[in-house]
Amino acid sequence: MREKKMAREADLLLAWYGANGRELPWRVRGGAHPDPYAVWVSEIMLQQTTVKTVLDYFPRWMERFPTLKSLAESTLDDVLKQWQGLGYYARARKMHECARHVMTFCGGVFPRERAKLLKLPGIGPYTASSLCAFAFDLPETVVDGNVIRVLARYRGVTEAVDREKIYPLAAALTPPVSGADYASAIMDLGATVCRASSPLCGECPWRENCVARREGLQEKIPVLKKLEKKKKAGAVFVLENGEGELFIRRRPGRGLLAGLWELPWSDDGAFPFAAEWREMPQQVRHVFTHFDLELKFFRCESPFPGEFTSGGVFVPDDRLKEYAFSTLMKKVLKKLGR
Ligand code: SF4
Repeated sequence: MREKKMAREADLLLAWYGANGRELPWRVRGGAHPDPYAVWVSEIMLQQTTVKTVLDYFPRWMERFPTLKSLAESTLDDVLKQWQGLGYYARARKMHECARHVMTFCGGVFPRERAKLLKLPGIGPYTASSLCAFAFDLPETVVDGNVIRVLARYRGVTEAVDREKIYPLAAALTPPVSGADYASAIMDLGATVCRASSPLCGECPWRENCVARREGLQEKIPVLKKLEKKKKAGAVFVLENGEGELFIRRRPGRGLLAGLWELPWSDDGAFPFAAEWREMPQQVRHVFTHFDLELKFFRCESPFPGEFTSGGVFVPDDRLKEYAFSTLMKKVLKKLGR
C-alpha cells in the first residue's frame, strides 16, 4: 500500500515534469545525459551559484574546455581565469585536479559507482549522487535546497531541517527507475512551483496530500538551520613602484581563494611590514560563506622591503587583465580605478 502510494507520487511528479520541466543546457530528458563531463561541470558550478548565473558561464566554459581531456591539459591559470566571477575558487582548482586524476587513473571516464566517484578530488556526496542520477540515470536520491523545501512542506516538517534530515524522506520517495528525470522533476518543482515565497500550490502535482498546504503552513516551512556568521574588519595594502605599477602576488595553492592573484590583504587589519601607511578613502565589503569582510585601504608611502615584494610582481594597469583575480580583488581594483 505504502509502496503504491509512493509510486503514485513519483508518477504524478514525472507526469508534471513531462509537461512543465525546465529546459537547461546541461540536461536531457528521458534518460542518462550522453556527456557526464557536462553534468559534472554544471553540478559544480551550481553549488553556491544561481541557475541564472550558470546559464551565462556554462556555455562559455564548454566552449573553452569542451572535454575532460581539454580541461586536464589546460593550466590552472587558464581554469581560474575562466572561473573568474563565480566565486568559491576551490571548486575550480578541484575540477582541474579531478580532470587530471580521471584522465590519468580512470581512463578519462567518470566511474558509474557512487563509492568510486566519492574518491575523486572535489566530489562530495551531493555531486556523486547528482552524477549517478543525471549522467547515469541511476535511482539516486539528490537533495538540494529546492528538494529540502518541497519535502519539508509536503511532509509538514515544522522543526529546523537540513540535507541530512530530509534525506530519508527523499530516499523513500525516489523511484527505482527514471533516476535522471525524477531528480530533475523534484528540483524543478521547488524552483518553479513550490517557491520560497508564494508557492503556486494550485499548480502542484502533490497538492492533494501536501501537509503544509492542508494546514496553511507554506510560508512557515521550511525552518532552516541558521549559520552563525562572523564579521571581520580587514585591510588591503596598495604598493606602487616608481612607474605606477601595482604590486600583486599569488595566493598559496590551498585554502581560501587558492591560486588566485591579489593585492596583499589581511582579514584582521594586521599590516604586512612596518612602514608609513596612509589610509585611503576607499572601502570594500564582501561576503564569504563563513564570514562577512570589510576592507579598509592603505597605501605604502615609504620604501618597501625587497624580501616582501620578491614574493610577487609589479604590473602596469593594462596588463592586470592577464591575471586571475577573485571577485573580492576585482572589487578592490575597481575601487582603485584600475
Ligand atoms: S502543495 Fe504547495 S506547499 Fe505543498 S509541495 Fe506543492 S507547492 Fe509546495
